[in-house]
Amino acid sequence: MTNVVFFPDLQHLSKAFALFPIQRFTGKEVLIKLHMGEKGNSYFMKPTVAKSVVDELTKIHARPFLFDTTVAYHGSRFLKSQYQELAKRHGFTMKNVGCDVIIDDEGISTTIEGRTFEVATHLKKSTYIIALSHVKGHIQSGMGGAIKNFGMGGVTKETKTKIHNSSYPVYTKEACTFCGACANACPFTAINVNENSWEYNENRCFGCDACVDVCQSKALQSKDADFQFLLACSAKACVQNKTVLYLNEMKRISKGCDCDPNAGPIICSDVGYLLSDDPVAVDKASLDLIDKVQENVFFKVNKVNPYKQIQYGEKIGLGSASYELLEI
Ligand code: SF4
Ligand code: SF4
Repeated sequence: MTNVVFFPDLQHLSKAFALFPIQRFTGKEVLIKLHMGEKGNSYFMKPTVAKSVVDELTKIHARPFLFDTTVAYHGSRFLKSQYQELAKRHGFTMKNVGCDVIIDDEGISTTIEGRTFEVATHLKKSTYIIALSHVKGHIQSGMGGAIKNFGMGGVTKETKTKIHNSSYPVYTKEACTFCGACANACPFTAINVNENSWEYNENRCFGCDACVDVCQSKALQSKDADFQFLLACSAKACVQNKTVLYLNEMKRISKGCDCDPNAGPIICSDVGYLLSDDPVAVDKASLDLIDKVQENVFFKVNKVNPYKQIQYGEKIGLGSASYELLEI
C-alpha cells in the first residue's frame, strides 16, 4: 500500500518531504513539473509553492529547474517564447523562485499500451522529478491532478491534440473499394491507399474523423478511445522508470482547468496538500478528501466521473489506488 501524506500548509513541507525521503534527490538535477498559468486564469499554483520546493532541494545541493510544455491552441503559451514571457508575468522568475524556467516544444516517442506518446524532451531525459499539481475540475476528465499534469502537460502539442481528439477510424476491408477518398481527406497523411491496400499510421492520426465522414462505403467507423485512459497511458509514458514525488495542492479548486481563462467558480473550499511517490494514490486521495468536503463535486459540475483515470492508472500499472493517509 502506498503512503500519502496530508498537511494543511507549506510550513509542513520539510517534514512531509523527509518521510519519502527527499534525500534521494541529493546533488541531482531535478525537474519540477508544473503549470505556470494561462492568461486570464488566476487559480494556478503560485510561485511561492515552487519556491518552497526549490528551497528544500537547494538545502540538499540538488539543482532544480521549473518545467512545462507549450500547448496545442493558439494563445499565450503556443510558442516557447510566449510561455516564457507569461511565466515571468505570473512571477516565475529566477529572483522569485531561485531557479531557471524551461519550456519544451519537442518530444521523444514512447509507446504505452500499443499507443505512442511524444514525451517532452527534457522530461524524457530527466531521472529525478517533482510534480507540483494544482487539483481542479476538468471538462473532459472531471478532475485534473498529478495524472493530468503529466498525461497532458508532459507531452508535445501534437500528442496533446491527439489525446483531446481521442477517436480513431476502424477499418473494414470487406467494405472498402480502395477509392482513396479517405487518404485525400486526411489532413495528416495518416492513410495511404493503393490499388488493393489500405494502410493507416496510428502515430500520424489526430482523430479528426474526416476520413470516416467521406467514406461512402461505410468501410470506416469512428471509435472513441477514452480520454482518461489516454491520459493515464500518457502519464505513464512520462514517469515510468523515474524517481518522482507528487505534491498535489487542493486550493482554489475551480470547476474548470488552469488552461481555461474562464475556469468558472470555486467549487470547494481549500483542503490542503498531499505528497506521495505514486501519482494514482495521490490523485485518489485528493478526490477522496475533496469528496468529504463537497460530495461528488467534480461529477456534479463537469458530468464526468473523475475516478476513471484512477481505475485506468491502476490497470496499466501507473500506480496504486490503495493508499494509507498519514497526517502531519
Ligand atoms: S474512403 Fe472508404 S472505401 Fe474509399 S479507400 Fe477509404 S476506406 Fe476504402
Ligand atoms: S481520423 Fe483524421 S487524422 Fe485520423 S486518419 Fe482519419 S482523417 Fe486522418
